[in-house]
Amino acid sequence: MIKSKKSGQLIVISAPSGSGKGTIINKLLEENKNLWLSVSTTSRKPRTNDIPGTTYNFVTKEEFESLIKDDYFLEYTNYAGNYYGTPKGAIKEKLDKGIDVILEIEIEGASNIKKLVPEAIFIFILPPSLKILVKRLQKRGTDSKEKILERFHQAYKEINEVTKYNYVVVNDEIDAATDKIDAIIKAEKCRVDRIEEVFVDTKEEEIHELLMEDDKEFDNENLSEKID
Ligand code: 5GP
Repeated sequence: MIKSKKSGQLIVISAPSGSGKGTIINKLLEENKNLWLSVSTTSRKPRTNDIPGTTYNFVTKEEFESLIKDDYFLEYTNYAGNYYGTPKGAIKEKLDKGIDVILEIEIEGASNIKKLVPEAIFIFILPPSLKILVKRLQKRGTDSKEKILERFHQAYKEINEVTKYNYVVVNDEIDAATDKIDAIIKAEKCRVDRIEEVFVDTKEEEIHELLMEDDKEFDNENLSEKID
């Protein structure tokens, strides 16, 4: 009865560091084979847990600037002194194939994507409280005290931007938060603005006549056979 758009959906996820977004996104990817996480390019130095080509594509500042000139990015930003950018090509290819694409980017990048792709889905993940956020930042053990402080202040600022997004998910429990995001993605697939065509599979008059013919008792089985 309806033909919906075949293209994939662009899903933008932002969250302050320490909100647990990495774990949630990994779980979403494990559970949903039609999802693909875009790999950003950055000029920041790899951390011990980074896997080049998987967590990021690492380049120098000069290489990044040359990619900007080549119009390689859908959006890019300078965050905490380093460049981060979303490559254009791979995303279009996946969306055209009907694969949903996740961009895990900060708020300025999200706001640029909103201008370019207003129909994208914008989701913000929040920690249950600021105290829990700080605990999570400390537990990671990858950053110095100064870095943790910087990330905390950055997170504090970012939390005020939540109203610019379509959805907010509080991560008090990983499985529950993942299920909520999964539900959002599924619900978005049913939006009426994804309908390309509404068509009638059987003419109204045909069904009307069949119903009229059936002057005896209503015979559901017989009727459905005729309609088929
Ligand atoms: P981190 O250095 O902790 O990996 O990332 C720092 C911030 O950069 C995070 O908020 C992350 O979401 C954001 N980020 C990662 N890739 C991109 C990107 O391609 N574009 C933008 N705008 N932000 C990004």
